[in-house]
Amino acid sequence: MHTSTANSPRYRAITARNFLEQPQCAALPKDVRHSIQVASHVLPFRTNEYVIDQLIDWNNVPDDPIFQLTFTQGSMLQREDFLSVERVLAQGGSGEDVAAVVSKIRSRLNPHPAGQMTDNVPTWEGRPLEGVQHKYGETLLYFPSQGQTCHAYCTFCFRWAQFVGMPDMKFQSKNPERLTGYLRAHPRVTDVLITGGDPLVMKTSSLASHLAPLLDIESVQNIRIGTKSVAYWPYRFVSDPDADDLLRLFERVTASGRHLTIMGHYSHPRELSTPVAQAAIQRIRSTGAHVRMQSPVLRHINDDPNTWAEMWRLGVRLGAIPYYMFVERDTGPHQYFELPLVRTKEIFDEAYRQVSGLARTVRGPSMSAWPGKVQVDGSPTIRGERVFALRFLQARDPAWVGRPFFAEFDPKATWLSDLRPAFGESRFFFEDAQAQPRQEPRREPNSQSLVQLSRRTPANPGPRPASL
Ligand code: SF4
Repeated sequence: MHTSTANSPRYRAITARNFLEQPQCAALPKDVRHSIQVASHVLPFRTNEYVIDQLIDWNNVPDDPIFQLTFTQGSMLQREDFLSVERVLAQGGSGEDVAAVVSKIRSRLNPHPAGQMTDNVPTWEGRPLEGVQHKYGETLLYFPSQGQTCHAYCTFCFRWAQFVGMPDMKFQSKNPERLTGYLRAHPRVTDVLITGGDPLVMKTSSLASHLAPLLDIESVQNIRIGTKSVAYWPYRFVSDPDADDLLRLFERVTASGRHLTIMGHYSHPRELSTPVAQAAIQRIRSTGAHVRMQSPVLRHINDDPNTWAEMWRLGVRLGAIPYYMFVERDTGPHQYFELPLVRTKEIFDEAYRQVSGLARTVRGPSMSAWPGKVQVDGSPTIRGERVFALRFLQARDPAWVGRPFFAEFDPKATWLSDLRPAFGESRFFFEDAQAQPRQEPRREPNSQSLVQLSRRTPANPGPRPASL
C-alpha cells in the first residue's frame, strides 16, 4: 500500500538557529531558551516538527521526557563550562574565540568512548578500513558517509562527536568497495550492522548503493540497520517520497534469504504511541524484516520501571522485540543522565517482573565498554561480601563470553571503570589478557579538571581506567 500523498509531512530540521520560529519554543521561559542556546554551542541540537508537535507534552516542559531527550540544556554541561561559553558569547567573542572555548570542553567529554577511533578499526590492504568498526568476531559495524546525521539528536548521544564538526572524530565510508573486499576475506563475519548517525536519513537509492553489494557476499547472513527514524521520523517508512522504495529494498534483502532487523532506538513508550509510528512498524514487518528495540536507561527520561514495562509491552503488541537495556555510556553529558549501576539493575528487574515471557527477550542492563558488553546480573552477598555479579554478553575475546566475574559492590558506581575486583583480587580476569588496555580520560564527578587515569596496581589501587 502506497501511502504517500501530496500533503505528507516534509522533514525539516529544527536547530538552534530556527527553533524560536516554533510557537511552542518561542513560548518557553527566557532562561530555558537561553540555556538551550548556550548549551547547543557545545552539544549537538537538532529536532523536527514531528517531535515537537506529536511527541513532546508542552504542558510538562522542561521535565517532559521527550523534551529532555531532544533539547540541549544548560545543566547538561558542567556549571563552569556553561559559564565559560556564556561569557565568551556575552563578550561578543569572535567565531574563533567561541570555537576555542567549545573545543576545549568537547575534548574533555570523552568524544569516542571504548576505543572506537582506534582499537575497533580494522586494517585492510595496509591501511585502516574507513567507516568500519570490527570489535566482535561475527559482527561488523559500517558507517556510510551519507548517514552520519539523524532526524533529531538525542541529548545523551554516545556518538555526539559525529555531529559537531570535529573532523577527526568522524567515521564514514563513501562507498562499500573496500568493505566488501574485507568481508570476502573474513567469512567469519555473518552480521553487518549499518549504523551512524542514522543510515535511514539517506535516500533509499544511497542506502541501496551501500547495502546491495552486501547481498553478493554469501557469508553475510544477517543485516541490521541501527536507526532512530522509527521514533523521530516514522514518515520515513510511511509517506516520504521514497518510503515505498525503502520497503522494496527491505524486501530485496529478505527475499535473498537473509535476516533483516531494524534496530529501533526507542527510549520511551510515547515514541511508539502515535498512529504513524505504529504504521511504520507494521510496514517494516510487512517486508519480512524484524524490528528490535533498545535504549539506555537515562535519568530525566526513562529512569522508571513502569516506563520500561509499558514500552516493552507496547512494543511486543506492535511486533517490536525488546532487545537491549543499556547503561548510559561514559561520554558527552553522561553525568546528567547516568544512574548508579545498582539503580539501573533495580529498574531492569522491576520492569522485567511486570511483563510476560514474550517481552523477556530483553537483555541488560548492559555496558558497552572497552572489553565488551558487560551485563549487570545483580548484587548478591557471597561469602559475606556484597558484590556486583557481572557477565560478558559479547567480548573482544570470544572466550570471555558468558564468563561470570565479580566486583566489589559500590553504590555510586555508574560504569565498569568505577569497579574494583571483589574477593581481594587485584585485577579482573580480562585485564590479564588485554595487551594494551585503553586508558581514556574520564571526568571525575563534580570536578572541572580531567585526570588521565593511571593503571591501578595492588600497590596503587587508584582510580580505574575509563571505558574499560
Ligand atoms: S539516534 Fe543514535 S546516533 Fe542519532 S543522536 Fe540519537 S543516539 Fe545519537
